[in-house]
Amino acid sequence: MKQRDVNIDYGPHADQQMIDQSLLAEEVDVILRRLQVSEAERDRIQTESVGQFGNAIFETERKLRLTASMFGKVIKRRPYTSCHNMVKECLKPSSFWSEATDYGIAKEKVAIGIFERIKSLHVQDSGFWIDLQYGFLGASPDGIVLSEDSMIEVKCIYSASKLELKKHTLDEVIDIMKSKICLERHDDQIRLKRTHNYYYQIQGQLNIARKSKCYFIVYINDAIDLFVEEIERDAKLWEEKMCPLLVQFYKECICPEIIMDNIGKGRRCNDPPFISEAITLQEEKKRKISKVINPVIVNSADKESIQILRHVVVPFELTSVFQKIAENNTSENIECCGILAGRLENNKLKISHMIVPKQTGTSDSCTASHEEEILLYQEQHDLITIGWIHTHPTQTAFLSSVDLHTHCSYQLLIPEAIAIVCAPKYKQIEYFNLTPTNGMTVISKCKKSGFHPHPSEPPLFKSADHVRIENDATLEVIDLRMLE
Ligand SMILES: [Zn+2]
Ligand SMILES: [Zn+2]
Repeated sequence: MKQRDVNIDYGPHADQQMIDQSLLAEEVDVILRRLQVSEAERDRIQTESVGQFGNAIFETERKLRLTASMFGKVIKRRPYTSCHNMVKECLKPSSFWSEATDYGIAKEKVAIGIFERIKSLHVQDSGFWIDLQYGFLGASPDGIVLSEDSMIEVKCIYSASKLELKKHTLDEVIDIMKSKICLERHDDQIRLKRTHNYYYQIQGQLNIARKSKCYFIVYINDAIDLFVEEIERDAKLWEEKMCPLLVQFYKECICPEIIMDNIGKGRRCNDPPFISEAITLQEEKKRKISKVINPVIVNSADKESIQILRHVVVPFELTSVFQKIAENNTSENIECCGILAGRLENNKLKISHMIVPKQTGTSDSCTASHEEEILLYQEQHDLITIGWIHTHPTQTAFLSSVDLHTHCSYQLLIPEAIAIVCAPKYKQIEYFNLTPTNGMTVISKCKKSGFHPHPSEPPLFKSADHVRIENDATLEVIDLRMLE
């Protein structure tokens, strides 16, 4: 059995971060040609790669291709989001384990068994499909129904399986999970959301494997009926909307990175001109907005300018709601953090939303991840960041050196930004900001990271006296940790 060679030698230019554009174009062409397959090759690879993970042919063929599970992210990427994270996810996928992945693997076979029984159909394993027009696009559906030229895609939703339910119906699950589940009600029917990544994944699979129909199967647990929706291939969506974006992303973001391997060398991958231009535009827009929201600066008698900070309104319930959210972490001695967002109203900065991002924490630190999800939410709801909140599970309420650096970046964006620290063990809740002259100067100039000492006098932070706690201010909590 002869294996196709997809390992490419990128030549003498592989080591340069920036390479000549015409040379780059030539090397991109080489990659594109190597990945192109004939129909016979496509069929052979598909048959031989059955078994997916762990199958050597599957792993080799998948390596340099853009695969259907990424399509939604590429298509929904905002023009000014750097391509680095997505390119990294495509080329160097991190094998992460979670209870949810375990659940998915364990229950997929169960779901397919139920599907075969209720539909009286036989499902066969599928291998890796390569697109005949764009050889760099690939797909691996969860199964093929040979008798009717269709395929299946199975999702086992772990987060939904953990809900406490009364009626054990899909309707109830949708009511509880709302935006956190891939399903929606549409004309009295339940269906896969048409803007969900899974929808783009399925359309990619259908169009690449040239199947007419996909059974989208959702398994939650044995108490809830299996959900099955028949989704037809949408050739127009594929050709007019998806392909142009996928082709551009592959040629301009992924290919140059395959050639230059910046990520492998510990650098960020280069944003192509169409992205870097959008980033510049967005930054200009942001600067205009921050001008509008900057506070009044007046000259005081001693000729030093003093900032008049506008009041920051904090809903009364905010800290208790947050401590409830953090409870599980706190009991395990792990910090938890949230972003405080709101709007400028009547010259007051009103915190109206608490966004709990996906995060990792330890006993003395907490780091938000997936920042694009926070930004997207804020942008869609027209919210500005007014501060952040975090717990100190075992320590008192203060700002650690790491906290000072975190807060400095908030306060640089908006001088009123506050840091709320909850120390449940000591029953302390403190509202802090950096001292505008000393704290901001010392921290913004400090280039150290991790925990490190700073001069403690004059003080680097103080209690934020522009905070106003209001009883009737409302608060909305968005827990992005639940988002799939
Ligand atoms: Zn802290
Ligand atoms: Zn420092």
